[in-house]
Amino acid sequence: MAVSAQEENTELRKIAILGSTGSIGVQALQVIEENPHLFCAEVLTAGNNADLLIQQALKFKPNVVVIGNEDAYQKVKDALFDEGIKVYTGSKALESVVQMETVDIVLTALVGFAGLLPTMAAIEAGKPIALANKETLVVAGELITAAAAAKGVNIYPVDSEHSAIFQCLVGEFHNPIEKIILTASGGPFRGKTKAELAQVTKAHALKHPNWSMGAKITIDSATLMNKGLEVIEAKWLFNLQPKQIDVVVHPQSIVHSLVQFTDGSLKAQLGLPDMKLPIQYALGYPERIANKYPRFSFAQYPTLSFEAPDTSTFTALGLAFQALEAGKAAPCILNAANEIAVAAFLNDEITFLQIAEVVADTLSNVPNNICAEIGAYLEMDKEARAKASSIIQQKRSK
Ligand code: NAD
Ligand code: MG
Repeated sequence: MAVSAQEENTELRKIAILGSTGSIGVQALQVIEENPHLFCAEVLTAGNNADLLIQQALKFKPNVVVIGNEDAYQKVKDALFDEGIKVYTGSKALESVVQMETVDIVLTALVGFAGLLPTMAAIEAGKPIALANKETLVVAGELITAAAAAKGVNIYPVDSEHSAIFQCLVGEFHNPIEKIILTASGGPFRGKTKAELAQVTKAHALKHPNWSMGAKITIDSATLMNKGLEVIEAKWLFNLQPKQIDVVVHPQSIVHSLVQFTDGSLKAQLGLPDMKLPIQYALGYPERIANKYPRFSFAQYPTLSFEAPDTSTFTALGLAFQALEAGKAAPCILNAANEIAVAAFLNDEITFLQIAEVVADTLSNVPNNICAEIGAYLEMDKEARAKASSIIQQKRSK
């Protein structure tokens, strides 16, 4: 009897999920639960959410968990003692658990700069990466991709746009890319003027029309900084020049991105907006995993529309292109300033429009040095955060 490659493959892929309690982490666990013949959770980690981490560990029985918040360590340890699950805490713990011999693939689903060191540690240990944490490639794309190439490690994109591009490239890896077109939903404020944006609140910004995601990326989607970070992420994943990357607004989020080849042909990947699809593609590559998720229908989406992004209102996208062109540490500075500004906005310290202002002011006030090794990026990140914080203080005292 003929069996499919999936059925033949009796080896379970053991996954380390960094950030298992977040939006991507929770959906990755759903994919694992739906495919117990393919995947199991070997490591689960969380920053603060000890209760959900405990629940997940009791259900998925990983070998190891890490809780970032040291104050919650004893609680997690006590709760998992009877199961024999090892519990660690602290940022160094992430760097060592990703290197465990039993880990087959590392899903980086934690948010922000905190992903950099564990991702580098995983690559150094030769582990394939399913990369959701785009900030790592924004900050240190050159270093990360060079390390991955040196170790022969594959980085599988989880971001839906980059997964789409990757899916378009399968079977075409020898064909040069003329350009890629990243689609953007436009976020909750598409079509709004600057005057209207001056009035928007945190609650408005946190309501994304098509995707349910963590707070930071939801705000990034509202400012269009998310698309800017994705432009930089795409540069490193697909080895492109900035002029080879276009952005188009596509409010329905059905066409997830496109590749144009040197003969002018365009390939696109389409599907309903559901992050479980790119997650399972990254974890299961090269297989496509059958599922019963809802299917796209033209009856439900009779019109797919496309428009140019409004870069004069949403200035963050232009700032990201500017940082990409400037190179060196500019994307690291951009990312640090953005993390600080988004946190300040979520804390009601600055307005929505001030997020991009803080990023622009930080970019023009922090010297753009070359960072040849990872320690230099840590320093650069610290310096840019300090500058962004002082710019915020100045704005607040006006
Ligand atoms: P989230 O805020 O929902 O979850 C973040 C996870 O990381 C949580 O488990 C949290 O406990 C953990 N974490 C946060 N800070 C940490 C730290 N300092 N140290 C260790 N762990 C920490 O975020 P999310 O929406 O799941 O996004 C995760 C990453 O995936 C981001 O880089 C985001 O840009 C990217 N991404 C997300 C989506 C999405 O649909 N949510 C889509 C594409 C890309
Ligand atoms: Mg995306």
